[in-house]
Amino acid sequence: MQQNIRKVAIIGTGLVGSSAAYSILNQGICDELLMIDINTERAVGECLDLSHCIDFTNSRTKVHTATYQELGDVDIVVITAGPPPKPGQTRLDTIGIGAKIMADIIPQIMASGFNGIFLIASNPVDIMTYHVWKLSGLPRNQVIGTGTSLDSSRLKTYLSEILDVDPRSIYGYTMGEHGDSQFAAWSHVTVGGKPLLQIIEEQKDKLGHIDLDQMVEDVKKVGFEILKRKGTTYYGIGNAIAFITKSILNDDHKIIALSCVLDGEYGETDLCTGVPAIITRQGLKEVVELHLTEAEQEKFAHSTNVLRDYMASIGYEKKALELV
Ligand code: NAD
Repeated sequence: MQQNIRKVAIIGTGLVGSSAAYSILNQGICDELLMIDINTERAVGECLDLSHCIDFTNSRTKVHTATYQELGDVDIVVITAGPPPKPGQTRLDTIGIGAKIMADIIPQIMASGFNGIFLIASNPVDIMTYHVWKLSGLPRNQVIGTGTSLDSSRLKTYLSEILDVDPRSIYGYTMGEHGDSQFAAWSHVTVGGKPLLQIIEEQKDKLGHIDLDQMVEDVKKVGFEILKRKGTTYYGIGNAIAFITKSILNDDHKIIALSCVLDGEYGETDLCTGVPAIITRQGLKEVVELHLTEAEQEKFAHSTNVLRDYMASIGYEKKALELV
């Protein structure tokens, strides 16, 4: 019988990495989960604790620590190594340390012969995804970041509370940087197929009070609201990582707002940012190009400009903006 073992590795077994691992194990998403951290004792501790979940789950996932040399036949390497921003910092403030960590670990992973999919969650995620793409030399379909998947989910959560509709029946995305310059593509948010803007127009008495701009501000800031209260965020991103991992391994062709290397889409090249994308067993199949309104396009251009400025700070040349 042909054996088709689904292997996932998580690099960085801190709060985000261990939350992702917990979610992956509980959903039986892979057969083998490999955990690596520069703090090897931490990785061993997490593996021991996680391995004691198996008896209470539906599938026997093997979870253990590993070395980089053992990653040659892994399907997905998830990167969650790096410090979360401290109070008062933005995600972009961790760029220097994040860039150094990627420069340390990616060559070691590639030396193993790894030819699977990189899924990056470390912040600033758009820039780290681009950096990993460059460092790995892999084609763009094999390097994706969690992008605005979590932000889009937060947006849908707010809408679901106001509309009293399951967030999974709401389709829509925040796009651009996973950070302060992101924006919501309101012209493409639908509830059960009906455009949100039309619903609001038709139900002015009930919904006219919704402040869409404020809602985007709340999405941008809520991570820091959590940070203020409990230090950092990890359950939401942990589940997002598990969801994306499952979509890849199941070849689901799901559309998720991820950080992708753009190659002409939205008039941009040589840059990673949050866009809706079709995800398969090969990673990125296609970036979904929404017809944005002029105002949304301007916000997209602003966000990519912010990202290019920060990319320049770690040595990537800033190119002129090309707007469609
Ligand atoms: P954490 O401090 O709990 O864990 C980070 C882990 O990375 C630590 O265990 C540390 O030992 C490890 N590490 C550091 N350098 C390493 C190296 N060179 N090799 C291997 N491991 C290394 O932090 P956290 O809360 O788990 O956050 C991790 C990252 O995830 C941060 O960059 C954070 O900003 C990011 N994050 C992203 C999102 C998102 O939506 N993309 C959401 C939350 C957090």
